[in-house]
Amino acid sequence: MVNILDFMTPPFSQLAVGLDDIARQGLYRSRRVIASPQSINLDIDGRNVVNFCSNDYLGLANHSGVVNAFKAGVDRYGVGSGSAHLVCGHSAAHHALEEELAAFTGRDRALLFSTGYMANIGVISALLGRGDAVFEDRLNHASLLDGGLLSGARFKRYAHADVVDLGANLDKAQGNKLIVTDGVFSMDGDFAPMDELAVAAKNHNAWLMVDDAHGLGVIGEQGGGILEYFGLSQQDVPVLMGTLGKGLGTFGAFVAGPDLLIETLIQKARTYIYTTAMPAAVAEATRVSLKIAIEENWRRDKLKQLSERFRLGAEQLGLQVMPSASAIQPILIGDSQSAVDISNALLNAGFLVSAIRPPTVPQGSARLRVTFSALHQEQHVDRLLDALARIILGRK
Ligand SMILES: *Cc1c(COP(=O)(O)O)cnc(C)c1O
Repeated sequence: MVNILDFMTPPFSQLAVGLDDIARQGLYRSRRVIASPQSINLDIDGRNVVNFCSNDYLGLANHSGVVNAFKAGVDRYGVGSGSAHLVCGHSAAHHALEEELAAFTGRDRALLFSTGYMANIGVISALLGRGDAVFEDRLNHASLLDGGLLSGARFKRYAHADVVDLGANLDKAQGNKLIVTDGVFSMDGDFAPMDELAVAAKNHNAWLMVDDAHGLGVIGEQGGGILEYFGLSQQDVPVLMGTLGKGLGTFGAFVAGPDLLIETLIQKARTYIYTTAMPAAVAEATRVSLKIAIEENWRRDKLKQLSERFRLGAEQLGLQVMPSASAIQPILIGDSQSAVDISNALLNAGFLVSAIRPPTVPQGSARLRVTFSALHQEQHVDRLLDALARIILGRK
């Protein structure tokens, strides 16, 4: 199937065998080239399709106010930031955004990172080392798992959202302890039991870190995310990581928390110190998208309505929905190749829905990850349900 490397000699020729292997398991990954702005409609190969796989939940990635702020940012600061934050790349735009993110999350301070992946790796490695222990939900995002492994601390996974299993592991641990969890699980859409995790952390004298990539701007009355939803303070959850490329529609990430945490990260987080700052114009655009996310409650209300309409409709069709109260509404398929086949059939019918396969999700739990945007309308949901009924039920 894959033969571009056939001409090569060992050891590189082994790569072809590896790629063939991936393809045979229905796990081969490839990109689709998009020729339009991010929105609920995308132009793919000259065709217009309805997009149900973006994380641009609030519909801000191509919002005119956000776009104009980006352009004004470029006019004022140019494109490149020139260096890392600690050298000469930390602009007034970055600084203002950090202050606004701190106020928004109700934390002492916030610190920008260039991506969420880097934020997670930087934070965990700055807080822990050999002799310490990190505890991770087994469904945590890859960047959290990688961060834990890279830190050199003892690495323990606990059963998904299972505070009893976590407690048993905490009892046995030595050194500094950090509990790490997604807030809204990225491939399932369910919420971490943050209130119970906060109690477990206090009882065991452990730090607690939440990655709220999919909750920020989306969950909570004011869009404050999973911690607003649970009403948890900086004392309860001292380490909050959020991303800017999902609900807020731009790019980048931040960590918010106590002053001591932020100062420690500035001194020790290698993925903060040794990388170029995000363009200042991205920070300017994010300042505007944050304002819109806070003020425009209709976006969250709309998302809730659309997600519930889809969930109810999918249940009525007998599709296997998952326990999600968020804008991520997966349909469980099981077999990887079937998930890919269904995703391709949906694309032919004009709907872009991604098939999520192992190792992103556990073996045998391949799924269609359907996500909604505040810009979708009820008719989009109904048309997707019709297509799912035709394609999935038609296969049985
Ligand atoms: C997307 C995501 C990240 C990575 O953020 P980027 O800014 O895209 O690097 C981290 N954690 C979770 C839970 C995510 O969904």
